[in-house]
Amino acid sequence: MFQRFRRTRLNTHLRSLVRETNVSVNDFIYPLFVRSGEGIKTEVTSMPGVFQMSIDEILKECDELKKLGLYSIILFGIPDVKDSIGSDSLCEHGIIASAIRAVKEKHPDMFVVTDLCFCEYTDHGHCGIIDEEKETVNNDATLEISGQQAIIHAKAGADMIAPSGMMDGIIETLRDALDGAGYENLPIMAYSTKFASGYYGPFRDVAESTPSFGDRASYQMDPANRREAISESISDELQGADILMVKPVLAYLDVVREIKDNTSLPMAVYNVSGEYAMLKLAGKHDLIDYDRVVMETMVSFKRAGADIIISYHAKEVAKMLQK
Ligand SMILES: [Zn+2]
Repeated sequence: MFQRFRRTRLNTHLRSLVRETNVSVNDFIYPLFVRSGEGIKTEVTSMPGVFQMSIDEILKECDELKKLGLYSIILFGIPDVKDSIGSDSLCEHGIIASAIRAVKEKHPDMFVVTDLCFCEYTDHGHCGIIDEEKETVNNDATLEISGQQAIIHAKAGADMIAPSGMMDGIIETLRDALDGAGYENLPIMAYSTKFASGYYGPFRDVAESTPSFGDRASYQMDPANRREAISESISDELQGADILMVKPVLAYLDVVREIKDNTSLPMAVYNVSGEYAMLKLAGKHDLIDYDRVVMETMVSFKRAGADIIISYHAKEVAKMLQK
């Protein structure tokens, strides 16, 4: 029997008591781009509010982040010299290793995640060693040097390694390499479901990592494939990943939810450069209420199942939450 009834209107206080999804400053990891030099802080034209910074500026930025309650960063290195195998990323004195060491020394309370890939470090802009004949990335050769890169990050003091290249078998390879070097407790956040996406455009400006030929479709996922997206993440779970990820996120919230329902691991989402730039530009032209849309977007990530949000909006969100 159905009965007609009227639902009580909740006041603001009660609405916040029963709210199902909350965004907190603790949800965020803030991406930082580091390059050599001193006193360098260059804004990226396609991503207002995002900078390439030298290490001294990164250290100042960490002070600012901590004041906002943000204690987690993910570092991307931009080397002076790029070559075919990304040597700078395999060197203890390379840009990424130097940055990790400097941050951990000055800010031991910062949680430093490191992006592990080769596209920022190679002259061809692909995520690994190129197989000249096939004109594509050589998966197994790349795995070998990925293990070396992970140990460089670990020795420098990284708190978590985040491989983003989508090579087959990468998680198992890194886990073995880290365990073998005595880093059994260093967690791995897998870019476990990473789509070949048009949303990465502005990032390639900031990281200077646009492929010089071809694209990354051979090792990134087809946006049309839902089941494959889930099985990619589950495969990384089976290989020993500690955290799974979906990247980009806005066009893939259904995938976030489905993976979340199929795993007990924490889930991260990467709110990518193109997603950020769209809101920035719409806000700049007064087409949207920027703060409101940013917060609504962050809530959608949490509602879809994200535990961690990697986002260029992190500082703005922290400021909004303080108000
Ligand atoms: Zn890459």
